[in-house]
Amino acid sequence: MNNDQIRDAKALLPMARSMLDGKPTTSASDGAPQQFALAMANAELLSPGWCLCPARADVDTAILEQAYFARLDGGHGWLCTRCRKITQTG
Ligand SMILES: [Zn+2]
Repeated sequence: MNNDQIRDAKALLPMARSMLDGKPTTSASDGAPQQFALAMANAELLSPGWCLCPARADVDTAILEQAYFARLDGGHGWLCTRCRKITQTG
């Protein structure tokens, strides 16, 4: 994301929040301002701590859904859409 793209993403954040309606989306990424706005909205839904959902150990069922999140300070990673806690930072 360059500065122009980040500016565009910030402008889209209110719309992204309303699209999510309190539920993290797996459509977020850092590929374009629209997806980055969703990633910032995902970050607002994070719960403190690390995901300990049992499905993480069961790779065959792969029940766990992960959603990308990003903050304007540069922090980013993945959260569990079930418990909303962090599964991985990047
Ligand atoms: Zn979880």
